[in-house]
Amino acid sequence: MGDMKPSAWLSYRLRKATQESDSIVGAYGGHPRGIRSHQWPRCRVCGSPMCHMAQIDAGPWIDLHGFARMSVFICHATGGRCEDWDPWKGANKVLLQRVRDDNLYDGPPTVRVYRRVKLTVDPAIDEAAVMRDVRERGVPLKSALQGLKHDKLGGGAVWLHNDDTPQSPSGQGPMRMLLQMTTDVVTFDITRGGMAWVFIDPWDPSEDAGRLLWQGG
Ligand SMILES: [Zn+2]
Repeated sequence: MGDMKPSAWLSYRLRKATQESDSIVGAYGGHPRGIRSHQWPRCRVCGSPMCHMAQIDAGPWIDLHGFARMSVFICHATGGRCEDWDPWKGANKVLLQRVRDDNLYDGPPTVRVYRRVKLTVDPAIDEAAVMRDVRERGVPLKSALQGLKHDKLGGGAVWLHNDDTPQSPSGQGPMRMLLQMTTDVVTFDITRGGMAWVFIDPWDPSEDAGRLLWQGG
């Protein structure tokens, strides 16, 4: 399974790990691992250190394009005035690292620290098959999407409002979704019922290829 490439249409539901035997794919909240103080992202709008939301490690459950880990941060310093939902403003950050470092380093004080929740995944869902059931077996699209509206790695984004898939600045097409987050596992401050998504630009090999955006509930 180690060298299996995750398919674009397979998704893995994220859940809070509860047993020793659960394989850990990452964590929401708490103090991030392997982020040295000079690497801690600051909001490009207001300059404040951002709050850590999530860290996900590469594995059979997610293809991070050769990166070992992604860490997701957001600015909560100004109550939304930095437009932290926007993937391009710099009020949130997807930090991609080539080497996984599990050490804890001091970070700057931030306005908010979420409780650390270790994450594991359910067996894969074949979303292509789910959508085939919509087309060929009369399963209502709404109920099919409802069944995918949870925290997950991979697959398609279940939008709350309009389709906000970021386009690659290279002009070559849409970015690929890595992570869908809700406020169910951790009550992230993205409005009650809000959802956030992390995308990666498949045409950008740099450490800046990841984008976060969110929509309010
Ligand atoms: Zn800010």
